[in-house]
Amino acid sequence: MEIKEILDLVKSEKINFIDLKVVDLWGRWRHVTLARTSFSEKTFTDGVGFDASNLGYAKVTNSDMILIPDPSTAFIEYIGEDKVLSIICDVYDSVTGKPSLQDPRSIMKRTLELISDIADEVYLGPEYEFHIFEDVKYNISNNDISVKIDSGEGFWNAQNRGEYFIGKKRGYHRIPPFDTLMEVRNKIVNRLLSYGVPVKYHHHEVGSCQVEIELGFLDALKAADYTLLVKYVARQIAKEYGLVVTFMPKPLYDEAGNGMHIHQYLVKNSKNIFNGDKIYNLSNYALSYIAGLLKHAKSVMAFTNPSTNSYRRLVPGFEAPTNAVFALANRTAAIRIPAYVKNPEKRRIEFRTIDSTGNPYLAFSAMILAGIDGIKQNLDPTAEGFGPFEGDAYKEKVKPLASSLSEACYALKQDNEYLETFPKELIKHWVKEKLKEEIEINAVPHPKEFENYFDV
Ligand code: GLU
Ligand code: MG
Ligand code: MG
Repeated sequence: MEIKEILDLVKSEKINFIDLKVVDLWGRWRHVTLARTSFSEKTFTDGVGFDASNLGYAKVTNSDMILIPDPSTAFIEYIGEDKVLSIICDVYDSVTGKPSLQDPRSIMKRTLELISDIADEVYLGPEYEFHIFEDVKYNISNNDISVKIDSGEGFWNAQNRGEYFIGKKRGYHRIPPFDTLMEVRNKIVNRLLSYGVPVKYHHHEVGSCQVEIELGFLDALKAADYTLLVKYVARQIAKEYGLVVTFMPKPLYDEAGNGMHIHQYLVKNSKNIFNGDKIYNLSNYALSYIAGLLKHAKSVMAFTNPSTNSYRRLVPGFEAPTNAVFALANRTAAIRIPAYVKNPEKRRIEFRTIDSTGNPYLAFSAMILAGIDGIKQNLDPTAEGFGPFEGDAYKEKVKPLASSLSEACYALKQDNEYLETFPKELIKHWVKEKLKEEIEINAVPHPKEFENYFDV
């Protein structure tokens, strides 16, 4: 929407609240809600002062930041009875008056600007996998909200109660009434469509209570904005049904995990430059991009797979990748080349490693910059030993991906020159905080350890 359109709409639709949404460093939306009376044309130029200390940026002496709403992101939502106009914001530095160097959304914009000699547009097609749970208990004490997930037990036990249920690992594309989540997905998708998000399709996934929603191709900035919107909408609709959503990469033991595969291609002068006459109808650009992404994979993973839980997903047996190779129609590889692409203008690669626990602006920027580095260096994925891989990458350790958050963090520490738009301070802060997360988790005795060692 244009600014004028927004101002007219607020008047004509009698909108009382304008909600400014901003991403924190770790990938969660935060918000502040303006009363209509404090919203005007000036909001778009002067912005709104905001205490950025809650955004998780590296320690900055100046934490007074300014939120500048991006009018092109406006959409109307209902919160209870109220019509609310929501706008995604960029974060500006109150001292320099310029976009903050640490604002993830600004980093993504700078990334797209930086690579514009190679690509005018980066098109991303994200696939969101997530679980919708029925039985979650909230324990609220000392202002802490702890969410207890009943590890799908209700579903396993249904069998003992003589009920039919989909069961473990049997959910892929199942139909109602056994697919009990179609109505919820329909509702999520309806709302996304009403906000202008292009949804391709949705379906039940392999796991119990696991589902997927795929979007059409979007420019990278929109894809990152919509990633946060999809999570937001999924959670809100689920709540209306008394259900709870998680995008955790591996919420259930011995069940498929949640990936966020990203289909991608580059466009220059309105042409898809991944289309070509090399292997699998790819171009040299596509092959070098693949080589760059796989060469930097471990470092990229510090942004695309930035949780300890991410690495519980990347194990053999659940269609998640374990090796940094590319392959045709192969779900065990970090990069799959779709075998069937009818329209050459949609020629693309699918990066399967990434999950939803990151900050989409940083994760997508890292992924794109790694690929672009491959193009700049004219890398050849075959010469680098990245494939084309044939066979089952679960059976071989060809080019192992990072196997833990700390491995990815140490890789990022060593290998970050290609991340030209990421301030060094941010990378340092990211590594430090993420390593801390792993140390904390490792210090907690694991239930499996009780099984293995309790009676030794
Ligand atoms: N759930 C799998 C993953 O963790 C992917 C399944 C699929 O190919 O859609 O990546
Ligand atoms: Mg899937
Ligand atoms: Mg996929």
